[in-house]
Amino acid sequence: MLKLNNIEVAYLNVIRVLHGVSLNVPDGAIVALLGANGAGKSTTLKAISGLLRVEEGEVTDGSIEWNGERIDKKSAEYIGKLGIIQALEGRHVFEHLNAEENLMVGAFQRHDRHAVKRDLEMVYDYFPRLKHLRHNTAGYLSGGEQQMLVIGRAMMATPKLMMLDEPSLGLAPLLVDEIYNIIQRFNSEHKTSVLIVEQNVRIALSIAHYGYVMENGRVVLDGTADYLKNNEDVKEFYIGLSVMGTRKSYREVKHYKRRK
Ligand code: ATP
Repeated sequence: MLKLNNIEVAYLNVIRVLHGVSLNVPDGAIVALLGANGAGKSTTLKAISGLLRVEEGEVTDGSIEWNGERIDKKSAEYIGKLGIIQALEGRHVFEHLNAEENLMVGAFQRHDRHAVKRDLEMVYDYFPRLKHLRHNTAGYLSGGEQQMLVIGRAMMATPKLMMLDEPSLGLAPLLVDEIYNIIQRFNSEHKTSVLIVEQNVRIALSIAHYGYVMENGRVVLDGTADYLKNNEDVKEFYIGLSVMGTRKSYREVKHYKRRK
C-alpha cells in the first residue's frame, strides 16, 4: 500500500506546488489522479518516484509511505528497487535504440536473465505489435507504438506499483482504448497496483477503482470510480458533459458559473 500523508512540494525552495496532498493506492488497485493542466499531477508522481530531485523539487512537509516505510527522503534508485516504477509522460523512448533494446532498459537492475527473457515474451504477448517492430529504431515508431514501448518498459521492471503519466496523450481514441485494456489486463493478471495520471477522465475512470481530482496543488474531490462518474461537477468540468447533455469546455463552464 502506498500512502501520501499531507505532502507539500516546492521547486527551487520557493515555488510551492503541492499543498497538503493525501492519497492511498491499496495493493492491487487501479487509482486515477485526475485534473486539468498544471494541477500538480505529474509533480505528485515525481514526489513518489523520487524523480522530483532531478528537477530541484523537494517534499517539504508530510510523508510518503510504502508498506509502512518512509520513502520521501530516499533516492529514485532505491525507490525503483522497491518496485515503484514510473513511466514518463510524453513517450520518452531512447530514439536511437531499437524497440527491444528500449524494453531491455526497463530490466537494467535485474540479473535474473531467464526471468527477463520470459518477461520480454510477456510484454510481446500484451503488445504483439512491438514484437513485429522489435528491431526497428524507436525514434521512427508512431506515437502509439512509442507509448506501448514506454508502458512495456515499465512492465519489464517487475513493478509492484506502476505509475503512468497520461498514457492517452495525443493518441487516437481506438488506440487509447486498446492501451487501457492492456493496462487493465496487466493489473488483473499480475495484481500490480497502478496509479494513472490522466486528463482524459472518461477513459481513466473506465478502468480505475478509485480516483482523486486535483486542482491547484490540492485534492478537491475523491471517491470510487462509479461515484466520480456520476458526480455532476466531474461530468461538467472534466468530462465536458453538462446537465443538458451538451459539451462544454472547462473554461466555458467556469465562465458560465461566474456569470450566474
Ligand atoms: P500537466 O498535465 O500539464 O503535466 P500536472 O497536473 O501534471 O499538469 P505539474 O506538471 O505537476 O501539473 O505542474 C504543477 C505546477 O508546478 C505547475 O504550475 C508547473 O508550472 C509547476 N512546475 C512543474 N515542474 C516545475 C519545475 N521543475 N520547476 C518549477 N515549477 C514547476
